[in-house]
Amino acid sequence: MTTPAPAVTWTPLSGPTRQIALEVLLDGPLSRSDLSQRIGLSPGSLTRLTKPLLDSGLLVEAEPDTAPAAGAAPRLGRPAQPLDVAPTSHHVIGIKLTGDHAYAALTDLRADILAADDAPLPSPAPDDAVETVALLVDRLVEQLQQVRPGARVTGLGISLGGHVEDRSTVTLADYLGWRDLPLAALLTERTGLRTVVENDIVAVTEATHWFGEGHGCDRFALFTIGAGIGYGLVVHGQAVTSPEAGLSLLSHFPLDAHGPVGPCGHTGCATALLTIDALVAQATERLGRPVTYDQVLDLAAAGDPEAGAVVDRAGRALGRMLAAIANLTLPQRIVLGGEGVRLAEVAADAVAAGLHADRNPRTSDPELALQSPELARWARGAAVVAIQSLVLGR
Ligand SMILES: [Zn+2]
Repeated sequence: MTTPAPAVTWTPLSGPTRQIALEVLLDGPLSRSDLSQRIGLSPGSLTRLTKPLLDSGLLVEAEPDTAPAAGAAPRLGRPAQPLDVAPTSHHVIGIKLTGDHAYAALTDLRADILAADDAPLPSPAPDDAVETVALLVDRLVEQLQQVRPGARVTGLGISLGGHVEDRSTVTLADYLGWRDLPLAALLTERTGLRTVVENDIVAVTEATHWFGEGHGCDRFALFTIGAGIGYGLVVHGQAVTSPEAGLSLLSHFPLDAHGPVGPCGHTGCATALLTIDALVAQATERLGRPVTYDQVLDLAAAGDPEAGAVVDRAGRALGRMLAAIANLTLPQRIVLGGEGVRLAEVAADAVAAGLHADRNPRTSDPELALQSPELARWARGAAVVAIQSLVLGR
């Protein structure tokens, strides 16, 4: 039994102070005049409101950009110092729980990963999960001491496949067999850290929105392929949330009336065509020998006709999925992620063919951004939920 990690206290921000911290965190460094305009504050009010943020160490005055632009007259007097967040003023830990494993990341306030760790869950029992999380927290707190002596952890974020209420109670998690589990309260008690819990896709959508491929984008959709199918949507700068967001709603979207039958019994649904297991099972059958996901993609890329047929069919289905997302939600950008995201690269031509088959020829292709397939991305999503909880006080 270990003692709870000593936590750094965080005074919740509110009103224009919170808005200042948020603008600088997401888009900093920002000049004071830019910041005044964004929030609609007078320079005097801004100075008054930023003082406690500077005193607490959350904000710092960044190095001014002193080099005048080419051809511009040199500026007179003291250059204005833009405001920036001190990313190392706070650290958080994010942990993604699967049915049998926990993946953890230690990040700074801008969600840059400083260290990652993982551990198997001895069983899906809540007590075992809580102890495994506590173990990973202890190990990452120790790692933080080595990287930044004296620094401490301010918050903990947990993400999992399932439905979560109020960022605290897991109402339903099929992989773990949990129902109505007050996970945030259990972990706060065990670790001493302020803890929030969120659905894994919602968490990665928030991370993509704040610090990733969706940053600065008013409308974007996130679609992930891997062990399952995930979907998140940001519209007018806000993640669309719903009590149903954790139910993996696009898993059975119909994509190919003549496609393979999935474990769900559907013919040609997203699960039957786009999950890693589905692709591996189809390729294994056609090739007559067991293959891994990467081997299937490598074979297809090298011109193997059997693997190529399986990968092309999945790629075309992915293209049709992107067309449906573009047609239904009108995003500026679609971000593709998940452990299986490499399919989009290997089957790029088939993806484009599927996309164009279901799009009005007068439309332009949605901008596509590919995320890294690393599992650490899921833990980072959990960390971002913890960062949001600190900055937004929710
Ligand atoms: Zn299905």
